[in-house]
Amino acid sequence: MENFSFISKKLLDWYDLNQRELPWRNITDPYRIWISEIILQQTRVIQGLEYYNRFVLRFPDVQALAEASEQEVLKYWQGLGYYSRARNLHAAARTLVDEYGGEFPHNYADVLRLKGIGEYTAAAIVSFAWNQPYPVVDGNVFRFLSRLFAIDEPVDTAQGKKYFTELAAELMDRSQAGAFNQAIMEFGALQCIPSAPDCGVCPFQNECMAYASRSIARYPVKRNKTQTQDRYLYYFHIHDTEHLYIKQRCGKGIWRNLFEFPVIESETPLTFEELIRITPLKEWVTDEPAGAFHVRIENRKHVLSHRVLYATFFELAVKHLSDPPEGFIQITPAEIDNYPVHRLMQFYLDGL
Ligand code: SF4
Repeated sequence: MENFSFISKKLLDWYDLNQRELPWRNITDPYRIWISEIILQQTRVIQGLEYYNRFVLRFPDVQALAEASEQEVLKYWQGLGYYSRARNLHAAARTLVDEYGGEFPHNYADVLRLKGIGEYTAAAIVSFAWNQPYPVVDGNVFRFLSRLFAIDEPVDTAQGKKYFTELAAELMDRSQAGAFNQAIMEFGALQCIPSAPDCGVCPFQNECMAYASRSIARYPVKRNKTQTQDRYLYYFHIHDTEHLYIKQRCGKGIWRNLFEFPVIESETPLTFEELIRITPLKEWVTDEPAGAFHVRIENRKHVLSHRVLYATFFELAVKHLSDPPEGFIQITPAEIDNYPVHRLMQFYLDGL
């Protein structure tokens, strides 16, 4: 996998500056972490806060919860809804007293066996309390990761959940698993919000593939909503008499790691004027053009399982190609055979 350690670092830096002060933050008591996670499962933070404070005041530890009657526990839950959560909490507290002496087991699998605790909650408990590297993957994490890498895998399937869990585990700074998990969830909750996130202040603005392709609203993809989407690709074959630029495609898509010309991607077709306005041509071409743009291929259709691509290729000759911009490499036309390219690029190259 590419080195994505910068993602973890950026998230942790962002979290340092932006995290909300909440009573279950930066604590290592598995009991309180557990209570907060169960309360927050179907409850907004503001409402959950009040319930959490009252709950842990009355039931400050596993022992106190186990000794209470179910009726009293339900009373403290009244108004939160989904009462099975309270019943399961109570039952699990009794299991903890009966089988573990009132302490939480440190083993993920044992935590997972407790009533009402699923993979997400077990991961939260063992990572926040003991820094164990189990990723938490909630709606906030799905949204952020699916946008960052423009991932078309639906998030509401077992396969999708597994995919995103593995991705989060790969990105995780294992030495700071608890902080990483809190940071990525908080980032999704506060910055990469469901609608109209303020991408202008986002630390991932330069890497976010959904932002680059103006397709934020498309992510996360849900199975039931999955349908074929059109995407428009505008490639720029920039060269002088001896060299041209190519770039390795990153991210998680099917063309990941293949090489291609500089490209602008869009969910909607762009006019030439619109395209020129958003193309960072000044970054790509620091030299004087030797002529105008030449359209070599227009709207070449390429059908993938979930997408229909329309590719347009422009050629721009410059007098002298200087050092390539960051991320690009400069090669001779003959050298391109040494680099793997996707079908659309090959189609273009075959026509040269
Ligand atoms: S640039 Fe926008 S969509 Fe992308 S991660 Fe940041 S907030 Fe989310």
